[in-house]
Amino acid sequence: MLLFAALQLNAQDLAHFKSVVKELSSAKYQGRGYAMDGANKAGKFLQKEFEKGGADAVILQPFTLDINTFPGKMKLSVDGRKLTPGTEFTLREYSPGVKGEYPLYYVDTLNYDAAKIFADLALPEYKDAFVVCDFWFTYKHSKDFKRLQNKEGAPNAGLIYTWQTPLKFYKAYGEKVVDKPILWVSSTFPKDAHSIKVNIENRFLDDYECFNVIAKVEGERHDSCYVFTAHYDHLGNMGKKLYFAGANDNASGTATIVTLAAHYAKNKPQFDMYFIAFSGEDANLRGSEYFANHPIVPLTQIRYLINIDMIGDNNPVLYCEAGKEGMDGFAKFEKINSEKHYFEALNRGALAANSDHYPFASRHVPCIFLMNEGGDAYQYYHTAQDNWKTVVLSTYEPVFKLVADFITIY
Ligand SMILES: [Zn+2]
Repeated sequence: MLLFAALQLNAQDLAHFKSVVKELSSAKYQGRGYAMDGANKAGKFLQKEFEKGGADAVILQPFTLDINTFPGKMKLSVDGRKLTPGTEFTLREYSPGVKGEYPLYYVDTLNYDAAKIFADLALPEYKDAFVVCDFWFTYKHSKDFKRLQNKEGAPNAGLIYTWQTPLKFYKAYGEKVVDKPILWVSSTFPKDAHSIKVNIENRFLDDYECFNVIAKVEGERHDSCYVFTAHYDHLGNMGKKLYFAGANDNASGTATIVTLAAHYAKNKPQFDMYFIAFSGEDANLRGSEYFANHPIVPLTQIRYLINIDMIGDNNPVLYCEAGKEGMDGFAKFEKINSEKHYFEALNRGALAANSDHYPFASRHVPCIFLMNEGGDAYQYYHTAQDNWKTVVLSTYEPVFKLVADFITIY
C-alpha cells in the first residue's frame, strides 16, 4: 500500500471550483477570445482569484499574437431564409469578411468532374458563386478544393461546406486570413438553393497583446518545483451576439488549478509550486510556447508538470498523455488510481501537440496531460453549447484527489 498524506477536499473547494467555472463561462468574458478582449478580462479575474486564494506571488506574462476575429455582423440567409450562427452555420477561423448576394454552385459529388466545375464557374450565371460541397468529400479531392480556395485558382467568391450537426468553430489556424470566405453549414442546408445573402465582418488583430497568469506558492524547498497548467482562453466570438462559453474547454481545468493553488497556499507544500493559466491555447498553443521559450523558472528545475484541459465530462476512464520523461510519473498515477479507484482506468494516448503540455514535453520536461473526453459533454466540444448548462462538474473531485495524491508520492 502507498501511504498518502490525509487530503482535505471539502465542500468549500467544490463550491469554489463551481463558482470559477460559472464566472469564466459567463457572458462577461465573451468566450475568452480576443474580439471583445474577453481573454484578457478573464486573465485579470484569475489574477485576483489566485491572490484571494493566498498565492505568494501572482504575475502576468505578456506576449503577442496575430489573430483573426469576428466582432461584428454575422448574417447569412439562403434563398431569403435566415440561418442561425453557431447552429446552422459557422465559418473557418481564417475566413475573411464578406458582404453581398452570391449565386450558389453545387458540386455534383456523384458524377464528380473537376474540369466541368472550373468550366462552369467561368459561366456568367455562376459569376462570384459560392461553391457548395460535402465537407468530407472535399478531403478526397483536396487539390481541386485548394484551387477553389485560392484567388488565382478559380473565380468563385467563396466556399460552403456542408457538415454535421452540431457545427464546430475551430480556432487553431486563426493567425492568418485566407483569400476567400469558407462557411460551414449544418446538414439541414438546402440541397437546391439558388443564392445566399451574406454579411460577415472580420477584424484581423496584429500583435494583439494577451498574457499568461502565473501564481506561485512557496514550498519548504526552492531547488525544484511542481507546475500545474491549464489554458483559460477559448474561441471567443462569432459575431457580436454569439460567444463560445467554453465551460468544459477549459474553464473546468482553469478552475481546477485555481482551487489547487488555494489548497496548497493553506497547506504549505514541500517544493515550490507554480500555477499557470495560459492564454492563446486555442490559437495554436501560443501562451505555453511563449512560456516554454521564456520560462520564469529554469525548465530543468521542474520536477513534474500537470496540464489539465477539459475535465468537465463524465467518462469513467480518464485520458492521459505523457512524454518520455513523464512516464515514471504516469506509472505512479496508475498505481494511485488502482488503489483508490478514482477512475475505472487511465487511458494513455500518444503524445500530441493538442494542448499546453506539448511545448514542455518536447523540451524534455516530465509532464502529464489529463483530460476527460467521450462522455456526455464531448458532443459539445468547440461548439456554442459547451456552456454552464452542459458542463459536467462531478469529475473535478477525483481529478483533484488524484493530482494531490501524486504530489505526496512523486
Ligand atoms: Zn482546451
